[in-house]
Formats: sequence, structure tokens, C-alpha cells
Amino acid sequence: MFTVGLTGGIGSGKSTVADCFAALGVPVIDADVIARDLTASGGAALQEIRAVFGETLMQADGTLDRAALRRRVFADSAARRQLEAILHPRIRRVVGDMLATLTAPYALVVIPLLVETGGYREMLNRVLVVDCPEDVQIARVKARSGLAHDEIKAILAAQTGRAERLAVADDIIANTATPEALRAEVAALHQRYLALASAPPP
Ligand code: ADP
Repeated sequence: MFTVGLTGGIGSGKSTVADCFAALGVPVIDADVIARDLTASGGAALQEIRAVFGETLMQADGTLDRAALRRRVFADSAARRQLEAILHPRIRRVVGDMLATLTAPYALVVIPLLVETGGYREMLNRVLVVDCPEDVQIARVKARSGLAHDEIKAILAAQTGRAERLAVADDIIANTATPEALRAEVAALHQRYLALASAPPP
């Protein structure tokens, strides 16, 4: 299956872009949703997270304390890598299984940490990066979440920088205009991906 990976920084517009592709009938797989399933009660990664990170991250009802885990890996890059090593091979397997069940010209996989975690490139035919200036990201995240300016800056600082992300892009959407303009950009890319997906391999 011809597969397009979509990534971008926090608040850049990944979900909005994914919704535009979905509205055109493109199947969308979201790595974050898979990660949540893997770490839900009975999820395939929960035991290992518990074994590695300890009982302090479990709540009384047996579910994962996601806020505590987030704080832990945010503060400690070795812990972050450990968590990624538990989650991402499993996420890739699930994505692969899902892609195998689809019948569509192509599929979109939303991978917020595509650049940070690596390992996804070989399952993707194209990488699409949605990009906008940091001040726009901050304003949009602020409006969406009510997080404070400094908290958003800290998240941005922990993520891959814009230039590094853009360097892996085959295609770029500059999400600096209106949602209508974004829809038009997605429609053009959709035509391009349909053509690429039906072209014989080089
Ligand atoms: P991400 O998934 O990358 O974190 P979202 O798609 O959730 O980003 O977008 C962040 C916020 O900005 C959302 O509230 C979304 O509705 C808004 N947004 C996205 N693109 C635009 C745009 N072109 N104009 C105005 N608001 C936008």
C-alpha cells in the first residue's frame, strides 16, 4: 500500500490536515491513538512500562498515570528513549497490520514523533510535513489547550526543531493561512498522491 507519513510540531496542524485527507476518503491511521491503546488497561505495552518505570506510575485503579509518565519522560531524556523503545516498535507493527487490511489507493499515517524516533521511514513512501512559525504554533496551542506560554515553549524546545523536520520532508504544507487554504493544499496533494500511488515503481 502506498503510504504517506504526516508529521509536524505541536499545534502545527497535523490533526486538521489529517481531517482534510479523511474528508477526501483517504484512510487515516494515527500513531498517537495506537500508543494510547497500547498503554490502556490490558494494552500490550502496559506490563513492560510498569516493569521498567515502576508502580509509582500506576494509579489505584490499575490504569497508567499518563500525566506522571509525561512529566517523567519530559524531565529525563534517557527515560524518554526507554519509553520510545517500548512503544514505537509495537506501534510500527500495529500500523503495518492495519495497512495490510486496507484497500485504498493510498493511506495516511499521522506520526507526531516521526523524526524524533526514526524507524518509520522504511514503511513510508513519502513524508509530508505540516509547518508553521513557532509563534503561530504557540498561539494555536494556547487557544486550544489553555497551556501557559512557557509550558508551550518548553514542549517546543523538547521537540525536533523546524529545520530538522523540514529536512526529511518530501512534501511540505505551510499552514499559515486559513483553513480553506489548507483544504485546497490538501486537495492538490491528494491528486499528486493518487498519481504517485498508481504509477509503476521506478
Ligand atoms: P496538531 O495536531 O499538529 O497539534 P491541530 O491540527 O490540532 O495541530 O491544530 C492546532 C490548533 O490550531 C487546532 O485548534 C486547530 O483547529 C487550529 N488550526 C489548525 N490549522 C489552522 C488554520 N489554518 N487556521 C486557524 N486555525 C488552525
